[in-house]
Amino acid sequence: MNWSAIASFGPKVLHGLSLTAQDLATRQRAAPAGLAETSAHDLYLAPHCDDVCFSLGAFVRRRRQGILLTLFSNSGYLARPWTVTTQGDERIAAISSLRQREDLAFAREVGLRRCLGGLDEAPLRGFDPFETAKADDDSRRLDGAVTAAIFAAARKDHGGQQPWLFCPMGIGGHIDHMVVLKIVLRHYRALQARWRIAFYEDLHYAATWRERAAGLARFQNLAAPLKPRRSLWPIGESADKLALAALYPSQFATPPASIKPFTPAQRIPAPAHEALWTAERP
Ligand SMILES: [Zn+2]
Repeated sequence: MNWSAIASFGPKVLHGLSLTAQDLATRQRAAPAGLAETSAHDLYLAPHCDDVCFSLGAFVRRRRQGILLTLFSNSGYLARPWTVTTQGDERIAAISSLRQREDLAFAREVGLRRCLGGLDEAPLRGFDPFETAKADDDSRRLDGAVTAAIFAAARKDHGGQQPWLFCPMGIGGHIDHMVVLKIVLRHYRALQARWRIAFYEDLHYAATWRERAAGLARFQNLAAPLKPRRSLWPIGESADKLALAALYPSQFATPPASIKPFTPAQRIPAPAHEALWTAERP
């Protein structure tokens, strides 16, 4: 095959090939040693109730300490909308409270202290959740509120080893995930004074190859100066992670039965896993 034939595949195919090459390299490389260090001050940023569970549930369950900060904790989304019958503001309050209780049950199960950001999710702010192009403006509008929530959730003095901050990568393009990512990248140096920073592949979005390829291309573009590298964290028993996901029954039409939506899509054989990306110098 010659280069003009390869070029004719177009940039998407070339990116897919390079992503597969990166996934292969990840399999052969040990995870950064620092990521094995855990602290009660580790801070997990969840745009919504369920994001840390679906994306990092097995990782968190092994570590058993830290803080879960759910930023957009006001929500009107249910997989079975008819299960809440009230309307208007009362409905949003009832759904938010239901989802927050599910989040609290997860946090208790895995040993995290849970904090709420109290922000409205995208549809409550008048956005289609996947209007990704509006994320930049929205991230500037929400910058103060999100950074205040992050620093409010942090305990004053962590002493000793620098804790970790875990941030979504925005795979899937949900505007709330993108807003969190953009704010963390904007304040990377200031946050780095307090935390080591890692980015997680958002599940269930990253479980679809096309969404994952597009999301990683966007992330690698936004975070290019960090030269981020992937590490893979096998989840162990699938049933254990599915049991954690099942702590969010309001988000499923039927209870989760397959691990497929909870592991990143790969084009090489890989165990069910969760994935983190860290800068060369996190
Ligand atoms: Zn989410």
